[in-house]
Amino acid sequence: MLFDAAVKAGAISSSAPDAKGLEIRGKIENVMIKMGKNAQAKQFAEAGPGLGNYMEAASRCIKCYGCIENCPICSCSENCSTKKPELVRPGIVPPDFMFQMIRFAHIANSCINCGQCSELCPMDIPNSLYMHAQQLEYERMFGYKPGYDMTLPAMSCDCTAKKTEPHTTIYQRRR
Ligand code: SF4
Ligand code: SF4
Repeated sequence: MLFDAAVKAGAISSSAPDAKGLEIRGKIENVMIKMGKNAQAKQFAEAGPGLGNYMEAASRCIKCYGCIENCPICSCSENCSTKKPELVRPGIVPPDFMFQMIRFAHIANSCINCGQCSELCPMDIPNSLYMHAQQLEYERMFGYKPGYDMTLPAMSCDCTAKKTEPHTTIYQRRR
């Protein structure tokens, strides 16, 4: 909308993209995607996305909340379940593994693999690796791709509150 207004005002002009340029860009993107998938397969093989591996890595956690505060998907702020003493005992470092499990339950299905929870973790815990591994599992099982279709509710949303069908009927498990 801002772009259209700028064109209309004569501040900028636009033209159709160059076909050759689009073709070259497409090829480069495909190479990057392939390289990314290869790197991901290598990282998964090295670190192992299994829960046991994550528990071991998470035992370094100092509960700084960096992964939560910098996640573009997390939105509960002060109501975050990780701050509820009945779920995660206060004053204990490393925190109970429930701290990470809460994030898995609330975020994994919508993780867009931005990498912030790993990049900004002072203890070098590869959070996004495990989170994205979980998201890929959801994608394989239910065909749910976060951010692709904004008309669909997130898998973990309260669909009843949003007056849509319960997610169990929207996202059928694939055989
Ligand atoms: S990688 Fe996923 S869980 Fe981590 S900060 Fe980004 S969206 Fe959040
Ligand atoms: S950023 Fe790292 S150290 Fe901080 S709470 Fe998250 S996992 Fe723990």
